[in-house]
Amino acid sequence: MAGYVDSHYARTEAEPGDYPPLGEALEVETCVIGGGLAGLATAIDLAERGRSVVLLEQNRIGWGASGRNGGFASPGFPAGAPALVEAVGMTDAQALYVEAIAAHALLRSRIATYGIDCGPVIDGQLRCGMANSTESLQGYCDWMARHFGLQMQHRTPAEVRTVLDTTQYGDAFFNPYTFAVHPLNLSRGLARAIVQHGGAVHENTPALSLSRNGARHVVRTPRGSVTAENIVLACGGYIDRLLPKLVSATVPIATFVMVTEPLGERLRQAIAAPYAISDIKFATNYYRPLVDGRLLWGGRVQAWEPSPARLARALHRDMALFYPKLADARVEIAWGGMMPYLKHKMPMVGPVEPGLWVATGFGGLGVSLTTLAGRMIAGAIDEADDRFRMLARFGLPFAGGKWGKIPAQLIYWRHAAAARFGRGRQV
Ligand SMILES: Cc1cc2nc3c(=O)[nH]c(=O)nc-3n(C[C@H](O)[C@H](O)[C@H](O)COP(=O)(O)OP(=O)(O)OC[C@H]3O[C@@H](n4cnc5c(N)ncnc54)[C@H](O)[C@@H]3O)c2cc1C
Repeated sequence: MAGYVDSHYARTEAEPGDYPPLGEALEVETCVIGGGLAGLATAIDLAERGRSVVLLEQNRIGWGASGRNGGFASPGFPAGAPALVEAVGMTDAQALYVEAIAAHALLRSRIATYGIDCGPVIDGQLRCGMANSTESLQGYCDWMARHFGLQMQHRTPAEVRTVLDTTQYGDAFFNPYTFAVHPLNLSRGLARAIVQHGGAVHENTPALSLSRNGARHVVRTPRGSVTAENIVLACGGYIDRLLPKLVSATVPIATFVMVTEPLGERLRQAIAAPYAISDIKFATNYYRPLVDGRLLWGGRVQAWEPSPARLARALHRDMALFYPKLADARVEIAWGGMMPYLKHKMPMVGPVEPGLWVATGFGGLGVSLTTLAGRMIAGAIDEADDRFRMLARFGLPFAGGKWGKIPAQLIYWRHAAAARFGRGRQV
């Protein structure tokens, strides 16, 4: 049981809420394990439908990746649209995008409905190709518009240079669908909404084991238990017990964020945009100006988490490479977290046995995509909606568990080397 890691978000936490540990034996229809956005999205969807639900979090709400991320909410899938089409065909990929776009709109509307204090919510994201890339992004924009109805706006290298004072980028596209939020406050606001709808939330309550009592499942916790018809495992990259098949399918990948001191006018001269920015390369840099003049800069992926001091140095180097005029900006804080990946780079949302559900594999797109998982699971429990099959089909292929991190790290090094030579683009 641990408190929040020291992050910009923990330092600016604004959403109230006190969720005591479970200290009794409960009987409910659904028990959600994991208080990240996947668990929260599932529990709020069930609570809104008037179903009985309890959520258990081993630490604090949003303690994992959900409360530490870059805050970019963007509809899409970690595999990327072209790879998704290759895997399932155009018709099924289009159907998945329809669902992802609807869930993205639902997340936005919940922020407004519950007055969640996770703003300012800033629209838009500029996704930049690298200067050494020979391929124009215009073709990608046309393809996304033609097949998915998403209107990405192409920007020439000259247009990019009017906004970003860096020589690292070539052309780009503006994604008007992305919005940026304070993800810890978003997570905590969703927990508040669950309770508002009659659901129960317990922090500092690890699920220790799962067993069966006839058709029902029993979750044991240090000072209580939950007996439920449905269990939803939403433990992200922090799953370490409960279901060996899920543990060995999950490849937790670390990525990192830092925040600078307030930079004032210097920041506006380097980055003349209020919105989110990222690269289109494998281990993408993702960053955004904060309203108080600080720069939030995220990037790098690897299998393990270095110390905050090493992180701060590495991310500062990346930022200075792109924006040499910000090279003397002081880093105030840096932190990391684990993204949940599956071998196929798609989420898995579905039952692994009757009444035992899994929601995982959101990679670097979980802020928005978790809402889709919650909608699918709640729809199945509440009205036998079988749309979850669209994601359940990807399954939980064995990825070696913790040993799976070694091949994953080798793949990341290979992609990082390719990116240096202008290859390894990822959209
Ligand atoms: C630094 C960083 C930057 C990122 N940037 C972005 C971004 O800008 N946009 C984006 O869309 N995505 C981003 N991501 C990815 C995104 O944050 C994740 O995909 C998403 O948060 C995953 O949500 P989750 O609920 O599956 O997992 P988590 O948020 O990790 O939640 C899992 C929770 O389960 C709990 N848990 C585990 N085991 C148990 C147990 N036995 N009992 C009780 N509780 C348990 C954990 O304590 C944890 O709180 C980023 C991730 C990181 C780390």
